[in-house]
Amino acid sequence: MCERKCVLPNGVTGVCGNYVNTSGVLYHRGYGRLSAIESRPIEIKPLYHYWPGSTALTYSNYGCNFYCPWCQNDHLSFVKPSGSEEYIPPEKLVELAVLKGDEGLSASFNEPLTNLDYVVDATEIAVKHGLYSMMVTNMYFTVKSLKTVLDAGVDGFSADIKGCPQMKRALVGVDHEVVFRNARIALDHGAHVEIVYLVVTNTNDFKECYEWIISKHLDYLGLEAPLHVNRYHPAHRWREPPTPISKLLEIREYALQQGLKYVYVGNTWNPDYESTKCPRCGKTLIYRSGYRVLDFKLDSSSGRYKCPRCGEVIPIKGRYVEKHFY
Ligand code: SF4
Repeated sequence: MCERKCVLPNGVTGVCGNYVNTSGVLYHRGYGRLSAIESRPIEIKPLYHYWPGSTALTYSNYGCNFYCPWCQNDHLSFVKPSGSEEYIPPEKLVELAVLKGDEGLSASFNEPLTNLDYVVDATEIAVKHGLYSMMVTNMYFTVKSLKTVLDAGVDGFSADIKGCPQMKRALVGVDHEVVFRNARIALDHGAHVEIVYLVVTNTNDFKECYEWIISKHLDYLGLEAPLHVNRYHPAHRWREPPTPISKLLEIREYALQQGLKYVYVGNTWNPDYESTKCPRCGKTLIYRSGYRVLDFKLDSSSGRYKCPRCGEVIPIKGRYVEKHFY
């Protein structure tokens, strides 16, 4: 499933705890053993240019293929499935999404690559019901597994970039470029991708690192793919202090100087950093606060979303869904 490419001799389980070789047969022990199911706004993922205002029935399983020492979902990611947890068939998941009035499904919380055949099955059913299907993922797919989920109908990715090759303190040995390679493949397939860079203090926040990330973003994805520069808070084993806002703004400024059109700063609860502005005339087009769309000003009369003041086309996949959360 993923670029760790575990080799499993008889009786051995892969790093993520989900796949086991039993006498030459590969079993997915964690298939459909869900750890959470919850409707959530798409903006929380975060995806800002994909079905804005909608909600997705968000589901997770157990385990992960990475070991980020600052993981905020360690109660799910660092637990391996035993196979005796509650089983929710994919049909039931989709039925629940329809009942709750969600527009789509979101595989999230822990790493969905560890539940990939379930994501594929749920997506195929969801698409038949007119729902979208997206993933919040470290994007460490093999090319083959990525093409499998794209062909099933997954068409949105909130893709985490964890760092850069110059990092010394964590995730050493991870091929970070895989994220961008796969994001490009997904874009070429017609899917939507936003890159999420959690800026971890004294870990992946140094100049050489963010310059590498932004240069890869430009090389692989161009100027239009949104970038989220997100604030870290201490979690799991990592005790570095929260990212200073000044550091986030320094990175945002650099990304804008390089020509990126949509750069957001997240986890700061500041609507100015969360809202979408027209890259041509500066008008606020989608006003967000606390990961909610509070005002949507884009003009869709031509069949595309455009700035009502200067006519700039703003890339949005899906349609705006007006929901009232309060
Ligand atoms: S999905 Fe799990 S078992 Fe498969 S290669 Fe990745 S870590 Fe290993």
